[in-house]
Amino acid sequence: MAVEFSTPIRFLRGVGEAKNACFAKLGLVTAGELIGFFPRSYEDRGNIKLVSECPEGENCALLLTVRSAPVLSRSMRSGISYIKFTAGDESGSVEVTFFNQPWLEKSIVVGRRFRFYGKLNYGSYCLEMSSPEMEVYNPELPSILPVYPLTKGLTQGAVSGAMREAACLIDLLPETLPQSLREKHGLMSRRDAYRALHFPKSMEEVAKAKHSLAFEELLVFQLAVRRLRGKLETFNAPAMSYKDTGIGRFFSSLPYELTGAQQRTVKEVLGDLCRSVPMRRLVQGDVGSGKTVIAAGAMLFAVKNSYQCVLMVPTEILASQHFDTLTKLYEGLDISVELLLGSTPAKNKKKIKEGLKNGSVDIVVGTNAVIQKDVEYCSLGLVITDEQHRFGVVQRAALAEKNAERQPHSLVMSATPIPRSLSLVLYGDMDISIIDELPAGRQKIETKAYSDEKREAVFAFLKKQIGAGSQAYIICPLVEENEELDRKSVEAYAELMQSYLPNVRAEFLHGRMKSADKDRAMKAFAAGEVSVLVSTTVVEVGVNVPNATVMLVENAECYGLSQLHQLRGRVGRGTKKSYCILMTGKGSEKSMERLSVMSQTNNGFEVANADLLQRGPGDFFGSRQSGELRFKHASMADMPLIEQTHKAIDEIEVGAGYTAEDLRMIYTAVDSFFDENGSKEIFN
Ligand code: ADP
Ligand code: MG
Repeated sequence: MAVEFSTPIRFLRGVGEAKNACFAKLGLVTAGELIGFFPRSYEDRGNIKLVSECPEGENCALLLTVRSAPVLSRSMRSGISYIKFTAGDESGSVEVTFFNQPWLEKSIVVGRRFRFYGKLNYGSYCLEMSSPEMEVYNPELPSILPVYPLTKGLTQGAVSGAMREAACLIDLLPETLPQSLREKHGLMSRRDAYRALHFPKSMEEVAKAKHSLAFEELLVFQLAVRRLRGKLETFNAPAMSYKDTGIGRFFSSLPYELTGAQQRTVKEVLGDLCRSVPMRRLVQGDVGSGKTVIAAGAMLFAVKNSYQCVLMVPTEILASQHFDTLTKLYEGLDISVELLLGSTPAKNKKKIKEGLKNGSVDIVVGTNAVIQKDVEYCSLGLVITDEQHRFGVVQRAALAEKNAERQPHSLVMSATPIPRSLSLVLYGDMDISIIDELPAGRQKIETKAYSDEKREAVFAFLKKQIGAGSQAYIICPLVEENEELDRKSVEAYAELMQSYLPNVRAEFLHGRMKSADKDRAMKAFAAGEVSVLVSTTVVEVGVNVPNATVMLVENAECYGLSQLHQLRGRVGRGTKKSYCILMTGKGSEKSMERLSVMSQTNNGFEVANADLLQRGPGDFFGSRQSGELRFKHASMADMPLIEQTHKAIDEIEVGAGYTAEDLRMIYTAVDSFFDENGSKEIFN
């Protein structure tokens, strides 16, 4: 039977029940899915070294002849069996040991040549290799070996074997990019690229294949996003007007003057709202740059134009806080604001939903409870998502579908500053306003990293601050004590507080608490009733308590720099001098050095760049953007690749150098993008 894309892996030769279950654990069921499962890395076993030139402790390939008969022994104490023998080349010999693989004994014959791959160690009286990979040598052995991500019960050999059985499918893969484009940008065909990744001949070939697939992925993604945007441009949105909105009065009645950057952003946002094309705007501004008031102004503008608004945020705490802020800002303006959370009692939920449906509620603030299918709006005009890095392109598309014939305007607020070329990829469906200016008088937040030995002094400092009437946040990575992890927990912190800060009132906050309890703790802190808030990172986004002057982060080594920057942004919101203290458990030199960036700059853009460099974008986005698409091949740190795709896109959009057939081919791939990624309705 010929293998097809839909053939179950179970039906491939050599795959039994047990292996099939392992593949399923990796999310692989069909042969088609299998060939889309790529190696995590490669072993270069073709670069054969002499024993004498092998660096210690690094993986290397050796071609050795067995020189002594294997001795099989068993440790009396542990019961482990091991085989020892000597093998060597012209430059020297190595003692090789295998544990618990007694069956190998038969094949190890004096005079036989093997290729070994593993780490060479300098033992006390000879060179040693422990459990290396061992293959009977013949000149045909493949030199580059793919290393697939595995799961218990599955070996590299099993994956490679199944892959060989499914390999015929590679010749059936449809090409997505026309030859003209591939030639221009030096890309391999998809078929060649898949072949190279699974059955590589050289590392150069692997690199080129990766580049080709990453290029294709980024190109198609960006074109799809632009297409989404183009589609939206043909939709209708409510064109609003300045008349009788009182928007000027609103801004001039604030206790402060907007910064130049805020003013520019407000103008851009309100300008968009006055057009009949749906706004798609991203406002990027560092923590504390004053995005909330811009959101408030935009919503006031929409409400006074008789439209409803949604303000959507990722956490309930932040929703509550925004709700309070808006209620205060709108005092005397006759605007009805409601808070809708997953934890809102059913009775209230029902009432709010009715109000949204009949139009008596103007603004609803909430978590993604506000975009559930059963929430209907009477005249939704503006959707704002705050701290948006948790909502991805696909979720944005889902939001846009809420009002098919009348699209609401959409405004996204983000405090994660990222380089512009990256914004073009991740937010290619949007216009971007950047608030690159903090309100006047903001002080630099003094930031320092300390190791555990300095705890005494750190707490003395904390005591002094609290004595002077300030408040402090203490962030711990864990909710409960965990024996295995040497990290601080919120629950255990009560004891630490007892010994270091007796008589200081504290509240404890973490994501596993009931919503009402969280709310109570947060409110008590915001009202100044307690001096210390011990919390997990649930306070990370958006929370605003101007009297808090100290942010102490325990086990700071556990966090990315951007996340630390967000945490730091919780202080320095008032007039008082503020501090960010980064405690590192062991105070290792490496984490100290990594954290030193935080002391050097308070600028979110600089922190984000350092973060990208340090960790790579997988982690950078992985931890934050649970809702964002994951790229399979493309790395967001590969700036040259990103630039190259931007150029290609410009060419495609003007059609330069491409035949109609070429373009049709590209756009077929683009069209199927949202089909495969769960939001095809948008293209109806
Ligand atoms: P973020 O951009 O992080 O969401 P916020 O909107 O929470 O920042 O604003 C932080 C603080 O700055 C708030 O207390 C807000 O009232 C204040 N603020 C906003 N704009 C200005 C301004 N132009 N001048 C002074 N303070 C401002
Ligand atoms: Mg904010």
